[in-house]
Amino acid sequence: MSRRIDLPADRMPKSWYNILADLPTPLAPPLHPGTMQPVGPEDLAPLFPMALIEQEMSTQREIPIPEEIREKLAIWRPTPLIRATGLERALGTPARIYYKNESVSPAGSHKPNTAVAQAYYNAKAGIKRLTTETGAGQWGSALSFAGALFGLDVEVYMVRASYDQKPYRRVMMETWGGRCIPSPSPFTEVGRRILEATPDTPGSLGMAISEAVEKAVQDSETAYALGSVLNHVLLHQTVMGLEAGEQLEMVGAYPDVVIGCVGGGSNFGGIALPFVRDRIGGKRVRIVAVEPSSCPTLTRGPYAYDFGDTGKMTPLMAMHTLGHDFVPPPIHAGGLRYHGVAPIISNLLKEQLIEAIAVDQVEAFTAGVQFARTEGIIPAPETTHALAATVREALAAKEAGEARTILVSFSGHGLVDMASYEAFLHNKLVPYEMPESEIVRALKALDGLPKAP
Ligand SMILES: *Cc1c(COP(=O)(O)O)cnc(C)c1O
Repeated sequence: MSRRIDLPADRMPKSWYNILADLPTPLAPPLHPGTMQPVGPEDLAPLFPMALIEQEMSTQREIPIPEEIREKLAIWRPTPLIRATGLERALGTPARIYYKNESVSPAGSHKPNTAVAQAYYNAKAGIKRLTTETGAGQWGSALSFAGALFGLDVEVYMVRASYDQKPYRRVMMETWGGRCIPSPSPFTEVGRRILEATPDTPGSLGMAISEAVEKAVQDSETAYALGSVLNHVLLHQTVMGLEAGEQLEMVGAYPDVVIGCVGGGSNFGGIALPFVRDRIGGKRVRIVAVEPSSCPTLTRGPYAYDFGDTGKMTPLMAMHTLGHDFVPPPIHAGGLRYHGVAPIISNLLKEQLIEAIAVDQVEAFTAGVQFARTEGIIPAPETTHALAATVREALAAKEAGEARTILVSFSGHGLVDMASYEAFLHNKLVPYEMPESEIVRALKALDGLPKAP
């Protein structure tokens, strides 16, 4: 039986799949933060190179991947699809579990798939420096890696709590030549303002984005890069699902259910969007987004227009959100802490083309450890959420006596996150459900903003 399914190198995708060509209802337009009118390409030009702005707005179904990008992706792509027979056996399930192993990239996650593409288009446009934010450090390290490949300086604003707790991601960034700054920082106007109001804040992605955006708009040779949420980021990640579809076909399989964890929605979009296309075309496939119960954006946040950042500098996007000044509880071990979710993913949930569930961190790490003990690879804390949903699905299949085929995005390994595993293994991680009162408080930030259609 073929357990590891490798796509031949020459079958790495030559185009990305753009779901904007196939959405049953178009995305609501992003709105300018000052005028509240739909943004045009020129509004985004201070932040992004035109090629990425065009991809952000394009409705062309297949967008060719430039050869220079494919050459870099070929360092680790195509990634293997692996049948989790060890986990299947441990669960006693008739389900067939396949995981798309994105942990084999140099930075250890799916994030370099878009980092390499973004660095390429920026370098080609003459940009010299990229600024960005990072939560747990995965995106900052991925962009530092990609910047090194294309000769760009990379400046990373890292959420303070993670900066203090996760020194090795910072060292990864520095090894690839990136500069890592704890956020909020005294180096930006917005950082100074937040520090004055809340000197002890653990920081948040929303704050770090404001800082990175502020630095990018001040200098014409500096651009901003975002690691998730935006249409072009999900577009670049579709190599995951496109490859997985071909790999499953190689063994004559098609998924009954596709599962991915959701922070901003990029790895989930990457694995799921090609299968959403099939579902729109009438195929029977369930697609499940999994978020942490401590940051329950899709399951408990409204679909609304909101800013992408705390400092209200980014355009407003129509998305599921917990409000732009939401600060996730430091008690939570994993990433997946952004206050919003990709407009594409939010649209698909509204259209009932996907489902969303929330899982607690203790259930997530329990599945992560079970996976490590049966399949070997230690999953990233984010990835454990997708694995918990996979375990649930495999046990439901056992209950129903159905040999369901499950495809799960293995978004990254956890080798730089061992502090979270230590906390879990020594019973220091507790179940955490966001209290309703905190959600109600955070959602006040949406008062007075335009209503989403
Ligand atoms: C960043 C990250 C995520 C969450 O981000 P998405 O954009 O939602 O994919 C999930 N898994 C890993 C390993 C990550 O690094």
